[in-house]
Amino acid sequence: MQVVVIGGGAAGFFAALAAKELNPTANVIILERSAKLLSKVRISGGGRCNVTHACFEPRLLVQNYPRGQKELLSPFHAFQPRDIIEWFKSRGVILKQEEDGRMFPVSDSSSTIIDCFLKEAKKLGVEIRTQTKLHSIKKVEKGFELDIGTDKLFFAHHIILATGSSPIGWEISKSLGHTIQVPVPSLFTFNIPSFSMSGLSGISTDRVKVKIKDSKFEQVGALLITHWGFSGPAILKLSAFAARYLSERNYDFSVVIDWLPDFTEQELRDKIEKARKEHPTKHFGNVQIVSLPKNLWKKLYEKADLASHMLMNSISKKAITKLCEVLKKEQYKVHGKTTNKDEFVTCGGVTLSEVEFKTMESKLCKNLFFCGEVLDIDGITGGFNFQNAWTTGWIAGRSAAK
Ligand SMILES: Cc1cc2nc3c(=O)[nH]c(=O)nc-3n(C[C@H](O)[C@H](O)[C@H](O)COP(=O)(O)OP(=O)(O)OC[C@H]3O[C@@H](n4cnc5c(N)ncnc54)[C@H](O)[C@@H]3O)c2cc1C
Repeated sequence: MQVVVIGGGAAGFFAALAAKELNPTANVIILERSAKLLSKVRISGGGRCNVTHACFEPRLLVQNYPRGQKELLSPFHAFQPRDIIEWFKSRGVILKQEEDGRMFPVSDSSSTIIDCFLKEAKKLGVEIRTQTKLHSIKKVEKGFELDIGTDKLFFAHHIILATGSSPIGWEISKSLGHTIQVPVPSLFTFNIPSFSMSGLSGISTDRVKVKIKDSKFEQVGALLITHWGFSGPAILKLSAFAARYLSERNYDFSVVIDWLPDFTEQELRDKIEKARKEHPTKHFGNVQIVSLPKNLWKKLYEKADLASHMLMNSISKKAITKLCEVLKKEQYKVHGKTTNKDEFVTCGGVTLSEVEFKTMESKLCKNLFFCGEVLDIDGITGGFNFQNAWTTGWIAGRSAAK
């Protein structure tokens, strides 16, 4: 039996290993168009490779996938973060967990992951052909004929398509009967022209609520102020869940920031008034009222026309109302986005309803399997995108080799 995996990235490579491990007698071949294997794994997580996330409950895990949430539930019962941690451990690679749940190799180097995969492929006898680009596939009676740019067509009984977000992979999927959800970027930061906060670049705050004005999209989490706008986990997560919505609006929208989501406007007002009564003769700038980074707090109260030298008892009710508004519902006009250097993915790909997730086989073309980013699945940042590659790759590989 000849199982041909198209794409030597995270999903394709893991699928090939799973296939060969399950069925050592099968010919498992990876065709990779570039000279390099696993190139995204190498640059991932700033060169450290955020392999997965310490979230071991499938029901919670799926919530990190703006697209693929429903479909990944059953696959995660078959192969989840605990399984990939174990898979690496049994091959001598230990993963460590960071405070926020992200998991990396203890070496802090993606080379550890790549070396482990290459060693495993050699041990199992997976055949690898680099600089071999698939141009098209033709379904024939007993399998598939592949055009790889040589005189002779290449034959496969089973195909695993793991071409990531490359347009040719989607073209080939279409030629085999599939529909493609229009690709748009996910995981990006927000650009704010003439950004009033650029002087605070580098300051972050742990818990804010960010909402896209006049939409259902909102997230709570850490926010980072940059020279050109907002970034940080809350923004990246918002960009992922609203990826399509924002693309349709050409990245022209308003974001509403609630700097203190744990307090209502009334609670904040009470806090400020209490501080005013307790410290009537102190300067406003010397009274700790809320826990926000000092420079950020100063910037925010200055927006409400307050100044640090003002005496607490001179602060009017009107000024307090304005300050509460700035703290709870300040709006910024966003125009454009910036790619997140640490991790980015594409939303869109092969339509999920056309794939059987128990096997990752196409419902439209027998013996064709999919895994990884070629599908209309993407996760938020934190190791979830690789987990999708491992899980769908493992299932596709084993199903194809059975
Ligand atoms: C900078 C960056 C950092 C990232 N960091 C992380 C991280 O730390 N953690 C995380 O979870 N996710 C991370 N991601 C996302 C993650 O890399 C992807 O989700 C993941 O690589 C998808 O795996 P894949 O195998 O589906 O696709 P890919 O890794 O893109 O692999 C597809 C492969 O198919 C090959 N190919 C395409 N077309 C053909 C063809 N016609 N013939 C032959 N070969 C072909 C390509 O050359 C490529 O090697 C990061 C992404 C980027 C861009």
